[in-house]
Amino acid sequence: MNAPARIGTAPPSLGTAGLELRGVAKSFGAVGVLEGIDLSVADGEFVVFVGPSGCGKSTLLRLIAGLEETTEGEIRIGDRDVTDADPSQRGIAMVFQSYALYPHMSVDQNMGFGLRMAHRPATEVAEKVRAAAEVLHLTPLLDRRPSQLSGGQRQRVAIGRAIVREPKVFLFDEPLSNLDAELRVEMRIEIARLHRRLGNTMIYVTHDQTEAMTLADKIVVLNGGRIEQVGSPAELYENPCNLFVAGFIGSPR
Ligand code: ADP
Ligand code: MG
Repeated sequence: MNAPARIGTAPPSLGTAGLELRGVAKSFGAVGVLEGIDLSVADGEFVVFVGPSGCGKSTLLRLIAGLEETTEGEIRIGDRDVTDADPSQRGIAMVFQSYALYPHMSVDQNMGFGLRMAHRPATEVAEKVRAAAEVLHLTPLLDRRPSQLSGGQRQRVAIGRAIVREPKVFLFDEPLSNLDAELRVEMRIEIARLHRRLGNTMIYVTHDQTEAMTLADKIVVLNGGRIEQVGSPAELYENPCNLFVAGFIGSPR
């Protein structure tokens, strides 16, 4: 067995993995929600899913996380077929829009909670929380309760909770949509910095064009459960494959 990747002092290295979706489809009963999804994500790539409300972005993220079962197709992370793997065995961590921190616990306790539940030694938990807090500028706030934090700080704690688990792949589902405009900009910069520092594969869902254009190495435009186009922000802006993509990306075509 490989030794677990560790957050060292600086810079932390979490080990990375690519992601591959092959012919992924999902139906809820008779209702098809996703169809024929093929996608390759390179190790360490920052991929953003965009598309109108209800097009299947969250469902696709939940399939990757293993929170929903695929109806068809295959999901690979690194060199492993994880299509039927338990969520805890996939090497992923997901950050949601509502951060659901435990109100009665300190920042420190919130961030270490998952590791403590996994019966990891207290010294290891403390070290990982310390390292993640440093990356996220949370060190001075470790003793506070969530109610004593701003929205941006709470969202950082939620990200910290994901980091301490040392995922190969981070999944973000509209993590900034509950924040006000100013905090969104601040957190967007923070997330870009985090990606540069950790180098992990990140899959990020947003309906915010600015977030997509500034964060993504690659944007995936979804519509009605299918992929319309995949490309770099510049490729999609300059060469949208149809009017839908052009409209969504805001290019002048
Ligand atoms: P998005 O995140 O792009 O807004 P979702 O992935 O949440 O879209 O939803 C895509 C479609 O799947 C929607 O029509 C939604 O109603 C449907 N859907 C999502 N989850 C379920 C579920 N558990 N059961 C039935 N339908 C669902
Ligand atoms: Mg959604």
